[in-house]
Amino acid sequence: MASSLDALSALCKRRGFIYHSSEIYGGMPGFWDYGPLGCELKQNVKQAWWQFTVRGREDVAGLDATIIMHPKIWKASGHLDTFADPMTMCKQCKKLMRADQIDDIRAELGKKAAAVNPAFALSCPHCGGEMTEPKPFNLMFKTVVGPIDDPSNVAYLRPETAQAIFAQFQNVTATSRMAVPYGIAQMGKSFRNEVTPRNYTFRSREFEQMELEFFIRPDEAVEILHGHVVTLADNPDLNGPVQDDWGWEVWHKYWVEQRKKFLNAVGLPTEHFVEYWQKPDELAHYARACVDIEYDFPFGRQELEGIAARSDFDLSQHQKWSGESQMVFDDPLKQAAKKMDDAARAAFVEKTQKAWAERAAATGKDAVAAVAAAEKFCQNLFDGKYVPHVIEPSAGVDRLMLALLCEAYEEQKLTDEKGKEDIRTVLHFSPKVAPVKVAIFPLIKKDPDQDRIARDIFRKLQKKVNCQWDVSGAIGRRYRRQDEAGTPWCITVDAQTVADGTFTVRERDSMEQKRMTYGEFLAMMYDALEF
Ligand code: ATP
Repeated sequence: MASSLDALSALCKRRGFIYHSSEIYGGMPGFWDYGPLGCELKQNVKQAWWQFTVRGREDVAGLDATIIMHPKIWKASGHLDTFADPMTMCKQCKKLMRADQIDDIRAELGKKAAAVNPAFALSCPHCGGEMTEPKPFNLMFKTVVGPIDDPSNVAYLRPETAQAIFAQFQNVTATSRMAVPYGIAQMGKSFRNEVTPRNYTFRSREFEQMELEFFIRPDEAVEILHGHVVTLADNPDLNGPVQDDWGWEVWHKYWVEQRKKFLNAVGLPTEHFVEYWQKPDELAHYARACVDIEYDFPFGRQELEGIAARSDFDLSQHQKWSGESQMVFDDPLKQAAKKMDDAARAAFVEKTQKAWAERAAATGKDAVAAVAAAEKFCQNLFDGKYVPHVIEPSAGVDRLMLALLCEAYEEQKLTDEKGKEDIRTVLHFSPKVAPVKVAIFPLIKKDPDQDRIARDIFRKLQKKVNCQWDVSGAIGRRYRRQDEAGTPWCITVDAQTVADGTFTVRERDSMEQKRMTYGEFLAMMYDALEF
């Protein structure tokens, strides 16, 4: 595991994982490019997520929406009014900082930090100067659509991919032939004008997200359908098939477990990340629960991704701002409600009103309005209609890549037979995400038979996975080069290959070498790549 970012970032630059964006012009803070190995790693991470979240399931559909959308979307979502960080500037050295990160910056600077000046409400960790009053700074990048630079043409680069899913919810529902509970997934670029982009690619201004909105029935609908709602207290089996009588709490925990399984599958062992359950006072006002999966990066424990239970907030907001219904029609619910007699319906409405009034009182909202809303909500449920609730697992591609790089990095001290010490730098990627799966070498490059057979294997494997061809230098050096790229297997073609077709397969982590036939190698490789 990488203990500091310095060695890791040097390797990433040297081997073509990550470069500064626009480097020849001095770079741009918060923008990064992925080189030949980095972009392969990125593709693999995204493909793994898509396979695990969309293709490998029967209840999730995909979406690929535009980056620039109708500005009203950001009004409805709350991003226009509240998506802001508190920004402050040092009056002396003019450095800009996020007011809530001043203590972290001071800790990072360590001995180099300026002493806290008690005369100021906020003092600069760089020079000790006085900081300005923090001001909210909206993180959305603005742009103008069309040829006229007028405020009416202002649009925004999306700060998250999720909102497009809500905005297209009715289209996807109508065309995917799926019914709640079901999810819509999207991967793609997001943009945030972060005040202080920091920690390598961890907090960037342009990054990619992989988000799933998993729509579920409100618990009240589950109760009408099944006569009960399964909660975590019922100890449900989260590893088996999903169940129709699960309440939101179970669906939320189910997705936390799914995300952990995914992280394990791509190479992060459970012991290396923690599940942080946000405390009630940390939750967004609409959220019922939120779990951050945090990873111990070399710069400290930080959020890798989040899984939030967001109630029906998002679709309700879009219903309100667009004027378009975001309800679904749930026939099994309508049929179940039909079987309730008047007394059962009245009791159900009363129970719901009481629960809603209590929740409103606990959160400082209008209890009378809640009682009226509950009545309307119940009548809609009896007609089989509701606005779905949502569980949102939201992950960052770049953050996960950084975690995988940190996790994979190792400098091993090796001693050869002659007692000579050497450092082997290895990236222990899971084969599922490794940028190069196989490197193929003829042992003796000038041997025409070895060269021909090795090239033949290379061409065949190239059609299946990303491969590299390397003939330069001694075989030991070629192995080391692949270790640094994180290539799990190297195939060496030698004299015996010419005689019997078997070749040497050298495994990266154990450095063991085995003779295999092409068929044996393929079976072993596919086994390791499968989810
Ligand atoms: P943070 O608190 O770190 O700013 P956040 O809670 O605002 O993150 P979300 O809005 O929940 O993050 O975004 C979901 C995921 O998107 C994050 O868990 C992270 O993986 C990724 N992400 C968010 N902002 C950035 C960024 N500036 N750079 C890289 N990845 C990001």
